[in-house]
Amino acid sequence: RKSVVRITTGSQALDELLGGGIETLAITEAFGEFRTGKTQIAHTLCVATQLPLSMHGGNGKVAYIDTEGTFRPDRIVPIAERYGMDPNAVLDNIVYARAYTHEHQFNLLLGLAAKMTEEPFRLLIVDSITALFRVDFTGRGELAERQQKLAQMLSRLIKIAEEFNVAVYMTNQVIADPGGGTFVADPKKPAGGHVLAHASTIRLMLRKGKGDQRICKIYDSPNLPESEAVFQITAGGVAD
Ligand code: ADP
Ligand code: MG
Repeated sequence: RKSVVRITTGSQALDELLGGGIETLAITEAFGEFRTGKTQIAHTLCVATQLPLSMHGGNGKVAYIDTEGTFRPDRIVPIAERYGMDPNAVLDNIVYARAYTHEHQFNLLLGLAAKMTEEPFRLLIVDSITALFRVDFTGRGELAERQQKLAQMLSRLIKIAEEFNVAVYMTNQVIADPGGGTFVADPKKPAGGHVLAHASTIRLMLRKGKGDQRICKIYDSPNLPESEAVFQITAGGVAD
């Protein structure tokens, strides 16, 4: 049996909310509006995953699928320096791929899984899981096909997490949900519907606080507390 590894997010408050960090053998979804910190968490995890277990890392490599072109290697440098790591060595251990269509995204996933049989990976990032599906399937009549293809991709992610003892961190956007009424307390919900809701082990809802402050809440979990964690986005990545 494989045992769960918990990887630090860079923030103690966020780690505590997650029960020690993001977990291998599981899918962690982060959703929220533009600039709520989804990609900055990904950047920080790229470094933290490479830390030794004694420093709450995963002692492994990182696979990164980027659908929005927002990965910034130069952002990795100060984060690596914060942890006293060699930035070039850290960058060498991030296998990066840019996806342009949902089929491309799926094929990249298969290629990365093949790499994982050869080298010790501990994290797979998909930023974002839903964006290309929302571009590739626009019509109302395409919804069923979109959800079917999304389900296929998610089941592959779950398989990778379990086969290679990898943590999957995926981001998601919010969509308007007028809910049929005029008075809606929270008119936003994560994209991807039930298919995504069922695939995610844990769903993190992010929102902006003051300045560089961000707030994270566990979304819709029957067995986790409804509490919130406050963290900061700094030059050295996610912090308290
Ligand atoms: P999302 O992926 O949710 O759209 P990001 O993770 O890209 O959001 O977060 C962007 C936020 O992070 C912006 O508010 C930006 O100001 C902040 N940010 C990015 N880089 C830095 C940095 N080096 N130092 C401080 N804040 C940063
Ligand atoms: Mg982003």
